[in-house]
Amino acid sequence: MKLTEEEEMLRSTIREFVKKEVEPQASLFDEEERFNQPLFRQLGALGLLGATVPERYGGSDLSPLAIVLAHEELSSSDPALCLSYLAHALLCVNNIVVNGGEDQKERYLPKLCSGEWIGAMAMSEPEAGTDVLGMKTTATSVDEGFRLNGRKMWITNGVLDDERTPCDLLFLYARAPHEDDRGRVQLSSFLVERGTSGFYVGQRIKGKLGMRASYTAELCFDDCLVPRTSLVGKEGDAMLHMMRNLEIERLGLAAMSLGIARRALEVMIRYAEERSAFGKSLHQFGQIQQYIGESYAEYRAARSYVYEVARNLQLDAAGNRIDSDGVKLFAAPVGKRIADRAIQVLGGYGYVAEYVVERLWRDAKLLEIGGGTLEAHQKNITKDLIKRPELLLE
Ligand SMILES: Cc1cc2nc3c(=O)[nH]c(=O)nc-3n(C[C@H](O)[C@H](O)[C@H](O)COP(=O)(O)OP(=O)(O)OC[C@H]3O[C@@H](n4cnc5c(N)ncnc54)[C@H](O)[C@@H]3O)c2cc1C
Repeated sequence: MKLTEEEEMLRSTIREFVKKEVEPQASLFDEEERFNQPLFRQLGALGLLGATVPERYGGSDLSPLAIVLAHEELSSSDPALCLSYLAHALLCVNNIVVNGGEDQKERYLPKLCSGEWIGAMAMSEPEAGTDVLGMKTTATSVDEGFRLNGRKMWITNGVLDDERTPCDLLFLYARAPHEDDRGRVQLSSFLVERGTSGFYVGQRIKGKLGMRASYTAELCFDDCLVPRTSLVGKEGDAMLHMMRNLEIERLGLAAMSLGIARRALEVMIRYAEERSAFGKSLHQFGQIQQYIGESYAEYRAARSYVYEVARNLQLDAAGNRIDSDGVKLFAAPVGKRIADRAIQVLGGYGYVAEYVVERLWRDAKLLEIGGGTLEAHQKNITKDLIKRPELLLE
């Protein structure tokens, strides 16, 4: 797909940044399970932290395709750093851009765009992930505002260090304590600042399979009182907020898989050229050619789908859920599969950290779970096609 001049420039700037700043630290921070906060904040100077934010709030108002390119490039080196970036820029910041009120935008967006503040989004809970309506965290309306009670689980950027410092700002989903007159669960969205009494980090979740340089937390709310101004939109609006934010979130996650796929392919090709066995380079063996050839075709197919959906995406509209599920359903296993093949081509060397592909393989798995599991995407796509079979003809 042809990129605009602006998109080309952005991609080459990020490629340069990745080579100079991201790549040299990626393996170490993975090994030590540490979040590179200073490096993350540098993404602000590149204009990436407010990628979807209008310029008047300090953002760079990039096209959806430019945002996809940013995720692909960062992930080709350090998917964990990119996950923290996605949680900030798409799960939290973009949610405020599309759903927040004017006061909230003015108050929070400039700090989030510059990197002064780090944001997160909390939907999942210890006992409810895919089943969003099963969430138990409650927001009870009281005279002074809302009283929040409950726990959130698996929150990227929820914690910023080992001293259990929570993120600066949390985009939180919670339910009303009772169903409405028609028996429906009412979900609302809130912006919760660090330092609000009753909001704290339960634990930093360690020992993750992958994405180890991105911090993940359990967050707790014990009679946490937030002012009425922290409510996003109106009470009961949260499902709409989720729908509006979904497409760019899932595109970002799919783009991360593209970065993993491309990098794994690069490593695989180089190794197949350099390594010999039985007097021949590995790339002369048919089975190795199958790994390389299929990986290339799958990478390009995933990239075409992701780029096409990005090119047609309107960030300010609720849009077309079927393809945001579709791109992630297709691209996530492609990244994991290509990383897996790269390990196979490298043999024993593929199994150790030095050659990067084992880290990419571990990181790739998350993309089949986070932001919607593969099964959730299958369920949503089927539901949409049953309801609107004409989508096939568009
Ligand atoms: C590293 C990491 C970072 C994360 N970051 C965030 C974050 O920043 N914010 C946030 O809110 N969440 C975050 N999550 C949570 C993530 O989005 C959830 O893990 C995911 O949505 C799945 O929910 P679950 O873990 O509760 O699994 P469950 O929903 O319990 O699913 C378990 C299994 O059952 C299957 N299943 C469930 N329902 C159905 C169904 N109807 N049909 C068929 N199969 C079904 C699932 O597909 C899955 O295979 C993160 C998770 C991880 C691991």
